[in-house]
Amino acid sequence: MSNDCTFCKIIKGEIKSSIVYENDSVLAFKDIAPKAPVHVVVIPKTHIEKISDLNQQNKGIISELVMAANGIARKTNIATTGYRLVLNCGQDAGQAVFHIHMHILGGRKMTWPPG
Ligand code: AMP
Ligand code: ZN
Repeated sequence: MSNDCTFCKIIKGEIKSSIVYENDSVLAFKDIAPKAPVHVVVIPKTHIEKISDLNQQNKGIISELVMAANGIARKTNIATTGYRLVLNCGQDAGQAVFHIHMHILGGRKMTWPPG
């Protein structure tokens, strides 16, 4: 855990969030500034800054995030229509919060390529 990390504060309950799913490894909550009708952020409960920091020891967190995302997609009724999972890594990708997180976006038609 990091004392000055927004998402660690959400895990600790120091910042309120609208939690949609939780297990031992991950927490998922509604994005505060949704970019689609369904926009949920899934985070590991351990503080890892970015995807490029993953290693042999902690790489399993990615499957935890994806499996949680798939379940949330079913629960929010976007599993059939489709959804986009986004992992922003670093400055050029627009990563704003440096605690690994996966965006689940759905409920509308997405465009490609992303901006
Ligand atoms: P990224 O640009 O990939 O780092 O995305 C960070 C996301 O976290 C953005 O979509 C923000 O709207 C979202 N976010 C930031 N602070 C909060 C918060 N306190 N509660 C919910 N979502 C947040
Ligand atoms: Zn953190």
